[in-house]
Amino acid sequence: MKGTVRVRFAPSPTGFLHIGGLRTALYNYLYARSQSNGKFILRIEDTDQKRTIEGAEDDIMKSLRWCGFRIDEGPEQGGDFGPYRQSERKDLYMEYGEKLVESGHAYYAFDTEEELTEMRERLEKSGNPSPKYDSITRQSMKNSLTLPSDEVEKKLNRGDEFVIRLKVPRRETVRFEDEIRGHVSFETKGLDDQVLLKSDGMPTYHLANVVDDHLMEITHVIRGEEWLSSTPKHILLYQYFDWDPPVMAHLPLIMSPTGGKLSKRKAEEEGIPVNTKSYIQQHYEPEALVNFLAYLGWSPGDDSEIHSLDELCRLFTLERVSKGGAVFNHKKLLWYNEHYLREKPNLSLVNRIRKITDDKIIQDAEDEYLQKVVDLMKERVSKIDEFISYGRFFFYDPEEYDEKALKKWKEDSPDLIRAYRDDIAGFDKGQFKADKLKSTLQKVIDDKGVGFGKLMMPLRIATTGMGFGPDLFPALELLGKETVLRRIDNALNRLP
Ligand code: GLU
Repeated sequence: MKGTVRVRFAPSPTGFLHIGGLRTALYNYLYARSQSNGKFILRIEDTDQKRTIEGAEDDIMKSLRWCGFRIDEGPEQGGDFGPYRQSERKDLYMEYGEKLVESGHAYYAFDTEEELTEMRERLEKSGNPSPKYDSITRQSMKNSLTLPSDEVEKKLNRGDEFVIRLKVPRRETVRFEDEIRGHVSFETKGLDDQVLLKSDGMPTYHLANVVDDHLMEITHVIRGEEWLSSTPKHILLYQYFDWDPPVMAHLPLIMSPTGGKLSKRKAEEEGIPVNTKSYIQQHYEPEALVNFLAYLGWSPGDDSEIHSLDELCRLFTLERVSKGGAVFNHKKLLWYNEHYLREKPNLSLVNRIRKITDDKIIQDAEDEYLQKVVDLMKERVSKIDEFISYGRFFFYDPEEYDEKALKKWKEDSPDLIRAYRDDIAGFDKGQFKADKLKSTLQKVIDDKGVGFGKLMMPLRIATTGMGFGPDLFPALELLGKETVLRRIDNALNRLP
């Protein structure tokens, strides 16, 4: 094996970066950084121009940057092995495709779309459920193995459309060791003669991927399990080019909590965002998503759970990546998010809250007031935007009262609340403090001979409009006497 570890993240810019893709990027990144002087390379696999989407590459870059990954070589960073966009390497693949034809491991095929369809239909009719262009069928098709060489020459010179196909051997077992799955073997019988170069001169994923991994001196291919079935074709290519294949490591699938692969549809059903972009837009903490994804298929082997990206880089090993599917537990992600949110200084949260809201009142509130709001709410929120949604009452009188909470507004509530109001109405500013507000409530319930909740709930509803929230008395202190009395009076007027 070559000296330094070189890994690549090789997304196709066919859509926004999927959360599974982000995990692949993360594991590659962690592996590169776990090695001394390892390199993390970004390669954009945009050979399927029809499926390439504008903005997808930017989205990938933005997502990786958001997570805090440093890319050593890539389209923006450059490097000694560029260009790092496959569309810019087009000519190179043709050369390698032709090399394979010369060595007898690939061939030109001239079949038209109609001829291919006809072949498939013919085979289906004769009882073959998955017809392939393979060692048997290729013998009756139009290619450089069946046509006389002067005709092939003529066609090529004339500029007839052709593809280059891999000549997959009839009966062979392709074997390789996967760092995660162990020994893997595939029978070539089930493979088709993969198209390597398309008629537009563009390579398919398989050829471009293998050629680039070789030329870019990639030492480890770490990618999702969905690519495992492509690997035998790649191994054949390495063999035919006479190149050493990189170490292969196929990551476990990401599973839905209700079972099965976490498809786009399933994720949507369960309220799990699928694109990294959505996590950014929904204001998740990047450290939380990174920490969570690191554990989605890997663990350090002890019961520690919280690790920064730097720590993960030190701890990560491929040996501890699991084979079995990893279940996406959204609650666990929120748990991580809460953790990282609470670690952040209040002032930095305040600055971010100002940026994500378009509410003038919140934007213009004093730093000191906002910091107190953040301090009171910090233990209750899972995401930063909840400071704004659940903390609305710190800025606005309740316009309505939460219906579920109102079930706790009982017949005796107005009386109890009125008694409390009369007591606190006489407080001066120095007395309007959390402790005193609390002891006053205690006094009222003792006088009336009722339980704590009997007054606490209505008081919370009247002053916040909600049935849950931060510690009430410090919140009332922050709201101030005038606001609290006004809200109590409003509630007494509006609620039966
Ligand atoms: N372009 C492939 C993708 O979109 C790369 C797969 C691989 O890593 O080989 O994921």
